[in-house]
Amino acid sequence: MQVAQIRERLRAAGAGPGHAYRVLRLWSNALPQSSGKRRPEHFLPATLLAALPEIEADLAALARLQSVHPAEDGSERLLVELADGQAVESVLLPRDGLCISSQVGCAVKCVFCMTGREGLVRQLGSAEMVAQVALARTRRPVKKVVFMGMGEPAHNLDNVVEAIELLGTAGNIGHKNLVFSTVGDPRVFERLPQGPVKPALALSLHTTKKDLREQLLPRAPRMSPEELVEAGERYARATGYPIQYQWTLLEGVNDGPDEIEGIVELLSGRYGVLNMIPFNKVDGLDFRRPSWERAAEIARTLHRRGILTKLRQSAAQDVDGGCGQLRARAAQPVRL
Ligand code: SF4
Repeated sequence: MQVAQIRERLRAAGAGPGHAYRVLRLWSNALPQSSGKRRPEHFLPATLLAALPEIEADLAALARLQSVHPAEDGSERLLVELADGQAVESVLLPRDGLCISSQVGCAVKCVFCMTGREGLVRQLGSAEMVAQVALARTRRPVKKVVFMGMGEPAHNLDNVVEAIELLGTAGNIGHKNLVFSTVGDPRVFERLPQGPVKPALALSLHTTKKDLREQLLPRAPRMSPEELVEAGERYARATGYPIQYQWTLLEGVNDGPDEIEGIVELLSGRYGVLNMIPFNKVDGLDFRRPSWERAAEIARTLHRRGILTKLRQSAAQDVDGGCGQLRARAAQPVRL
């Protein structure tokens, strides 16, 4: 379902723009429609009041909690069931963050990702993305939303932009705390600067070598690392938010001295930060995770060379931390 469809339904029930905003604000913030100083019957049209219980029930059915997987780092991985029985993952992160999914499956097929293995199953509607936030808010406050879960937001651009616009207004999330994460797509760099809510941008770089990047991200649009960083730099300067360059560290693949030199050449003087995340083991994939000492050494070297680098663990890594693993596990037949 799309946010635009909810608006249309509210309008058909007699809601003006202010009424619709109120309903969407309470829903996306996980507040009961009867909350607030004055009860809704004091200022909502009677036709809308009569229609609200059914609309609310449909909104609640967009995303239901299938299972919760708390991790030692304080994050919680949520398996979320959609109205048609499909499942996606959201992750409640420490410090009031939430990572949400934008597709069931993904067509980019990054070779180190569980979600990519099954290909694209279906797009999520914008309302299904907002519903993940509303659901997470029934458990904890959410002040930051990253579109970094299952799916490539650039492949579902209209719906993701619609969700971002709602979250950045009625949804009460600061614009720079909305993070659009992409492998890089020219349409993203054209579209995002035009919207009323401009999110921050995370770009999946993973290597400075064009050929290797095409092997690691086989269905990503053909933007070279240089083109990607150029486009990211323009967006960062236009919005005032630094680009978050993402780098999954794979032992023996992209953790060598040649890549360190490549990063220094590519990112020196750029308005951005490099997030390095050691690969999280995925069953059935041969990639290896470099030791933490090795990863820390790479980060220290880059820092010394003037590249702002943060070494991160992927959240909830003790509970199937790579995106798509929970869903894959849930889909496996149960052995009796
Ligand atoms: Fe898709 Fe992201 Fe997985 Fe790549 S890492 S296959 S873009 S979900």
